[in-house]
Amino acid sequence: MSAEIESVTETIDADIVIVGGGVAGSAMAAALRNSDYKIVVIDKRTAPLDSARGDNFTPANAEIFSQWGILDEFIKRGATKRVGAEFRTSAGEVLLTSSYSEIDIPEPYFLVYHHDLMAETFQEIASVNPNYQLLQPYSVKGFEIEAGSIKSITATSNDGKNIKVRAPLVIASDGSTSNIRAALGFPTFEHPYQHNLVSIFAPYPKELTPQNYFYRYSDPSGHVIIQHRNKGTAKVILAVGEEGMPWWKSATPEQRAEFLARRAPILEGIETEMAGFYPARMIHALQYVSGNTVLIGDAAHTIHPARGQGLNMGISALPNLLAKLPTVAELKDPNKVREALLAFEAIQKPLYERSIARNHVAAMDMEAAAGENHEFVIKRQDEALRKVAATPAIRRRYLHESTGYPLPSSPVTNAQYLV
Ligand SMILES: Cc1cc2nc3c(=O)[nH]c(=O)nc-3n(C[C@H](O)[C@H](O)[C@H](O)COP(=O)(O)OP(=O)(O)OC[C@H]3O[C@@H](n4cnc5c(N)ncnc54)[C@H](O)[C@@H]3O)c2cc1C
Repeated sequence: MSAEIESVTETIDADIVIVGGGVAGSAMAAALRNSDYKIVVIDKRTAPLDSARGDNFTPANAEIFSQWGILDEFIKRGATKRVGAEFRTSAGEVLLTSSYSEIDIPEPYFLVYHHDLMAETFQEIASVNPNYQLLQPYSVKGFEIEAGSIKSITATSNDGKNIKVRAPLVIASDGSTSNIRAALGFPTFEHPYQHNLVSIFAPYPKELTPQNYFYRYSDPSGHVIIQHRNKGTAKVILAVGEEGMPWWKSATPEQRAEFLARRAPILEGIETEMAGFYPARMIHALQYVSGNTVLIGDAAHTIHPARGQGLNMGISALPNLLAKLPTVAELKDPNKVREALLAFEAIQKPLYERSIARNHVAAMDMEAAAGENHEFVIKRQDEALRKVAATPAIRRRYLHESTGYPLPSSPVTNAQYLV
């Protein structure tokens, strides 16, 4: 198959081309900053990423950053630490309160960093590599494909300049609607969720303490999540329930505050700004590799934001990919490239099948809490949280899962706790 575009003005030969400089692709470039590879990242964006998306790195990823020697880069640019989580009812009961330092992990905190800053920070870190080149804004539209491998990519600038990029290894991190996934015909498993998510920005409620925690409030009418952001702000997230999307689109700031305060009284009178509406969909590629091309990030696995793990999965796969990358000399042999990528897939896919299945359970639970039987479902979920709080084995499993660490061997099943 060939979809090459006419009038190429320049050809770049690289070792690795990364298509998509969002969080996953840019993190990969940053991780490779001290390597010998000649790396080209192509991204079509003309603006920063959407700030309302994931704004934290898990403790497991903070540990990875520490190993890569880049953790301080985030701290010095203003990242803060979220050290625990608390689940409350609208009536004032604390169902579960937990601190990540309860388990033995080296960086027991989520690193809070706004989404619109993430990719650019990784790119800045990557740019210490003299062999790194960023083509932005350049959109990938044309591919030369041969036997399931991408032989060349044509990137087009806004003013119509076409650059051909050739590399023996292609990393596709072009997001949930990945062009590369479609062009190479990767099969996917998909599940659309019914309830859209609403994301709202607000000043951080001063009385909500401790300040550096994640909060979820439950009320018989539904849930509200409150996450502190940097610079005295907060993000409020909820699944749209029986009030419907039109209500959210037309509600005044006062109506929004009243709605939110019914579920989380701490939000009474809060000034809010709508950040976005998000249809949720699971898309999992049935394979991550075709010839010389590997999918990473949302291109490989887009998940429901129920557990706040999407961007973090895009990063936590990278150490396994880095460990399998062929050397510069080995890149000359297409068989070595394919074998290396398949070795990565063999490790990563089973791990993520498990995480994605777990995430789907949490997503369906969030759907149920926004659905017709919300009162019954929320009562059951509250009960499950009391059990997490009171049962050490379940509590430990919950803490490991939510911080992004592989599950410790445990007899506890998903059915025993659904949070
Ligand atoms: C409301 C909401 C809340 C979320 N909260 C969390 C959270 O708390 N924690 C968490 O871990 N995750 C969260 N997520 C998920 C997270 O935002 C995504 O998983 C993550 O941003 C995906 O990163 P990515 O780099 O794989 O893809 P993207 O961020 O989509 O990046 C893809 C990049 O590819 C570029 N691109 C696409 N097509 C082309 C092309 N043809 N040519 C050139 N460039 C191209 C785009 O410009 C973009 O920069 C949330 C998501 C939503 C919607």
